[in-house]
Amino acid sequence: MAENTPTPEAAAEAPAGATSLPLVFDEPRGRRKPPRHLADLAAPERKALLEEHGLPGFRAKQLSTHYFSRLVDDPEQMTDLPAAQRGELVSALLPDLMTPIRVSEADKGTTRKTLWRLFDGALVESVLMRYPDRTTMCVSSQAGCGMACPFCATGQGGLQRNMSTAEIVEQVVAGARTLARGEVPGGPGRVSNVVFMGMGEPLANYKAVVGAVRRLTDPTPDGLGMSARGITVSTVGLVPRILQLADEGIPVTLALSLHAPDDELRNDLVPINTRFSVDETVDAAWHYAEKTKRRVSIEYAMMGGINDQAWRADLLADVLQARGDWGWVHVNLIPLNEVPGSRFTRSHDADMEEFVRRLEAKGVPVTVRDTRGSEIDAACGQLAAAE
Ligand code: SAH
Repeated sequence: MAENTPTPEAAAEAPAGATSLPLVFDEPRGRRKPPRHLADLAAPERKALLEEHGLPGFRAKQLSTHYFSRLVDDPEQMTDLPAAQRGELVSALLPDLMTPIRVSEADKGTTRKTLWRLFDGALVESVLMRYPDRTTMCVSSQAGCGMACPFCATGQGGLQRNMSTAEIVEQVVAGARTLARGEVPGGPGRVSNVVFMGMGEPLANYKAVVGAVRRLTDPTPDGLGMSARGITVSTVGLVPRILQLADEGIPVTLALSLHAPDDELRNDLVPINTRFSVDETVDAAWHYAEKTKRRVSIEYAMMGGINDQAWRADLLADVLQARGDWGWVHVNLIPLNEVPGSRFTRSHDADMEEFVRRLEAKGVPVTVRDTRGSEIDAACGQLAAAE
């Protein structure tokens, strides 16, 4: 797309009555939009976009099939498209979105972290984790993050920008391609789960994230055809957005990064808590569970001497059970992944065990999350994309 042609989206966002200025004035260098890609659009919009370019609309379906079903990215292999038009079709709907800069592997190649450079130079990371029974892609939704949680590596650099729907989806499709091509030990496979636990606060980039969830769950070839049950959106707790997500009609799993059961501590660990208190946040999560009938995950990173006291386990159980005891919630304890230079350290095993015992004694389901990928800085909270 030419740099100074306003995209339909930009035009739609222009205030009514504004004369149409070249985009270059509206969006200074470095603030341009990511290339428009078919994954940004619902199927009918893809057709319309081709027609706007003077291209045959029915080709959109073929392009979608290459992208989402056949997982083909080399235009040479799209032999059902007329050779003379192939270049134009591909640049209209399948432009390059991101370039892999580095791949790091652990667990004998079954954990793979990819560092990506986006069109404007922003860096993000995604992680593929293959287990015997499933393969999970952990994706980024923003370059950087504005939530400033002091124990999280991503939070230290601030927010650079929101990612587009297609940039989010492309991380999953790239993982699906490597699996389909047998490049991950264990034979050809597919992505069964997606977690929005990479860089960024997904609900601060709501529209693009919901768009990505739709593309992941749209049946092939319009989307990847995944089950919403396999998708987890993790949030610091942007209450109005949690309530909005409950009304979208896509029953993804909600993970709430609580990390403390009391406002005094949570104000420090998750600074947005000064806007939305523990009570308001847990109420919103409860509402999400009620509405979607999906069990909410409470994320709790265990930090030595900070949030791992036995009395806080008791308080956490009380806070959750005050909303009902019908199994609406599940606690995921994450042994803190230590970030170099950080004052936060991982809890001792004995404290972690006592914490689990206290929750179980009050009937709260709890599991301790594995910390796969920590040795390649690919575990939760370690993604910093330093280059
Ligand atoms: N912004 C979203 C997604 C962030 S990453 C959110 O906050 O939920 C996913 C999870 O990793 C969050 O629960 C986050 O709090 C947690 N996390 C961040 N830093 C961590 C660290 N150093 N060790 C363990 N978990 C961490």
